[in-house]
Parts: sequence; C-alpha cells; structure tokens
Amino acid sequence: MNKLPVSRLVVMKFGGTSVEDAVAIKRTASIVQGRRDKGLTPIVVVSAMAKVTDQLFAAAAAAARGDRSGALAITARLRNRHFETAKALISAETICDLGQWVESEFGSLDEVLRGLAAVGELTPRISDMIVSVGERLSSRIIAEAFRHYGLDAAHVDARQCIVTDAQHGKAIPQDSLIEQRLREHVLPHALAGRIVVIGGFIGSAADSAPDKLITTTLGRGGSDFTAALVGGGIDAGSIEIWTDVNGIMTTDPRIVPGALRVKTISFEEAAELAYFGAKVLHPATILPAVRKNIPVLVLNSHNPQNEGTRIISLAPHCRSPFKSIAVKRRLTIIDVVASRMLMSHGYLRAIFDVFDKHKCPVDMVSTSEVSVSLTVDSNEKLPEIAADLSQLADVKYEGRKALVCMVGENIRGQNGIAARVFQAIRHVNVRMISQGASEINMSFMIEEDDVEEAIRSLHAEFFSDPDPEIFDVEALKERAPEPVKEGVS
Ligand code: ADP
Ligand code: ASP
Ligand code: MG
Repeated sequence: MNKLPVSRLVVMKFGGTSVEDAVAIKRTASIVQGRRDKGLTPIVVVSAMAKVTDQLFAAAAAAARGDRSGALAITARLRNRHFETAKALISAETICDLGQWVESEFGSLDEVLRGLAAVGELTPRISDMIVSVGERLSSRIIAEAFRHYGLDAAHVDARQCIVTDAQHGKAIPQDSLIEQRLREHVLPHALAGRIVVIGGFIGSAADSAPDKLITTTLGRGGSDFTAALVGGGIDAGSIEIWTDVNGIMTTDPRIVPGALRVKTISFEEAAELAYFGAKVLHPATILPAVRKNIPVLVLNSHNPQNEGTRIISLAPHCRSPFKSIAVKRRLTIIDVVASRMLMSHGYLRAIFDVFDKHKCPVDMVSTSEVSVSLTVDSNEKLPEIAADLSQLADVKYEGRKALVCMVGENIRGQNGIAARVFQAIRHVNVRMISQGASEINMSFMIEEDDVEEAIRSLHAEFFSDPDPEIFDVEALKERAPEPVKEGVS
C-alpha cells in the first residue's frame, strides 16, 4: 500500500449547528472543499443535526413513561426534518435509495419506541440505540450531499471503528482496537483520496458480534471526542473542531456577548476549561491529541475566514493571569459532617467508596475539622448516595449550585489574584473555594442564580485590558461604537 504523508490528513469535526439544515450542510461542503484545494485529505466527523439528540432523548423518556403517541410525534417531526433536508441537498436520482434507508431507520426506531412504551423500562443499552440515530442519519445524509456537491466522499459507520467497553451512555474507547479498525475502514479511503464521513458520539461494544453491533455512546458532546480518537488513531496532521463561535472565547459568549477569542491556548488550559463546563470542547477531547502532539484548532463554520483558536502544547506568555472563565451549572453540594470519626483511619476512603459505588464523579472537595463538602453533578442517584453516606455521618445536600472556574497558566506564583477575584464578586455568596491541584485554575461554587452577574463582573475585571498577543483585540476595535463627532447633533 502506498503511503500518504501523514500530515496531509486533517480531521474536521462539524457540530450540530454546523449541520443543522441544508444551508449549513452546504456551507460545510465548501469548507471541506477548501481543505481539499489546499492538498489536504479531510476525514469528516459529524454530529447529529442541532437539537436532534435532545429530541431523541425526549422521545425515549416519553416512551418509557408510557406516552407512546408523544414519543411517535417526536419521531414524526424528526423524520420530516431529515427528509426535507435530504431533499434540499440531493439530486432526484439518488434521493430514492437514501429516502428508503431513512424511512427504514425511522421504522425501526418507532418499533423500539413502541416496545419501550409497552414494557416501560428504558435500559442504558436501549437508550444508546435510540439516541445514536441522530449521528447515523446525519453522517449518511452528509456523505451523500458531499457527493452531490462534487466531493469524492465515502460514508463509514462509526460503530465499525469506535470500539468501546459496554458502559452505555459514557462508554470508554479502546484505543488500540480503534487504531486497528481505523486502519481497516478509514485509511484505505483516505489513501485513495476519498473524504471519509463518519458520525461522532457513537461506537460499539468490543464484545459485539460483527454482524450485530451493540451500539454505545461516548457521553453528551461526544463528537469532539470521536474527532480526537480518529485524529489520534490515524496520526492526523491536525484536528479541526468546527462550531458556531470564533473559537475558545474568554467566557461563554451567551453570557458575555463581548467575550474575546483566545488566539492560542495550551492543551492543559483547554482541558481544564472543557472539564469545568466550557461546552465548546468535550472534556476528553484533548487527551488523544496531546498524546500524539497533534495541534487542535477550534473554528467557526459560520465565519470560516476567522483564524479561530489554536490549542498547542506550551502556551506562550500572557500578560493577564487568566485565559478564560468556564461555568458548570446544575451541581449539588453534599456536606458530610461527623465530629466523631473524621480523623479516624479510612474515613475519607469510606466516603469516596460510596461515590464510587454509584459511579458518581466528584468535582470539588473541601475538608474541615469535622466535615467534608463535595460537589457532584445533580443526578437522580443523589437520594441513594445520601442514604449510603448517612450510614457514616450526618448528610445534607443542596442543588442549584454552579462552579465558576478561572483558567490560566499565569496564575502560578502570582500574588494578589485571589483578592482581585473575590473583590470583583464581593456581592456574591461564595460557598467553596479551590485552587486546583493543576495550579492553573481557581474555582469556586456559587448559587446558580448568581452566575450571570458573577461572570460579567469577573470578565470586566480581568479582560478589559487584554493582551493582544493572546486575545483577538481587533474584534474589540470592530465592535467599538463610533465616537460621537463634536458639533453633530
Ligand atoms: P457544537 O454543536 O458545535 O459541538 P456546542 O454547542 O457543543 O457546539 O459548543 C459551542 C458553544 O459553547 C458556543 O455556542 C458557546 O455558547 C458555548 N461556550 C461555552 N463556553 C465557551 C467558551 N469559553 N468559548 C466558546 N464557546 C463557549
Ligand atoms: N449529538 C451528540 C450530543 O448532542 C454529540 C455531539 O453533538 O457532540 O450530545
Ligand atoms: Mg459540542
């Protein structure tokens, strides 16, 4: 087999808003064509069309509570949306086969939902089967659309390549098997110059029979993860995450519309931001790329000319302490109070064993003489967790909390930063504070209702005089209002 220079392979991941309708998919095709014109070989990872995964989850939940017609009404709307999109993109000759396939996919989906409504028990395995439909549909429709627009594209079923364990809903990828499968199913197309289109988010359990794959998913937002697994698995020259904002911004632009693009950020900083709530990247995305030192770019499919954010191994020096502020909502604080036992041997382990038993990850921990406070994602297992913990000590828990996480390599060893942070949000009730073990984040818990105000105040404090080497200050100039001319009424 002749060998393609590795750096020519570029993994391009398009999120839900980048493939939300026919217009967006057409835009995606031209972005991919642009990479082709530069002599690159794109491997395209796509999410489900915007909001489809949410709707599939909603259909599954409706069926599970016995609302059969509610579930089928959702799939009827989805069926219509996918048909209309395909019709707007694809020629009359090819639409026939694709249309039949789409019809049969929805036929099987409806059958599963009817069964679910009758039985009333939604297992994680069935849930994965249902929610995977979004990426299975989008990837095939997009591959077909690419061909229609003159790109030599081949569709690959992600389940043939992304091999995982059987933890449905948040399956763990099996790297070496994935590499092997990518070599079998993806590389030959790339070597022949074809553009592979593959669905993100979904995979299959390693112990599936080849003719009966057991579908798994990588967790919400998991298409970014797929992109990194594919990029790492084929030694791509770069990984591009195409989304609906200009890159990683100084904070979520939905909270601060004047947030600035961060031009370059380190892997470590980006991973920290993602883990602590910056939805723009899935937390696990960076790892496979870091291991192989593959640059990751975050780019805007609605504004492809923008240079986006480059994630590199070592961040250049930055004048300001922070690069970005992330926020993670829907958290619960659990307080465990036990005056008698705290210092006894094995006590903390006993507490963590409870979280381990319920497979519940803990975000932040703080301890005092007599108590331990922990934060977790609000979830339906909390009453059971609290019941188990109450065997050890007094327990109370409180939801509707948010974690604010300020990230930047420059906070290492700088004095007075915490004072500036807490001065900026002096009117907000801060519950727990931690300066992360990684030394590059400062995090604290607040009430969910205070999030917007706290983030705006912090943003004004730390990003009003941005370092032009790191932040896109040109955008700031473009946005500045016209100065009022004297003498003009
Ligand atoms: P996609 O569908 O492309 O995966 P997501 O909705 O998952 O897109 O992520 C993009 C969104 O992430 C943006 O629209 C933005 O509101 C949000 N976001 C949160 N924090 C940040 C941040 N620091 N920088 C950029 N976007 C952010
Ligand atoms: N479609 C999946 C989700 O909405 C995966 C993704 O978009 O990254 O979570
Ligand atoms: Mg996403």
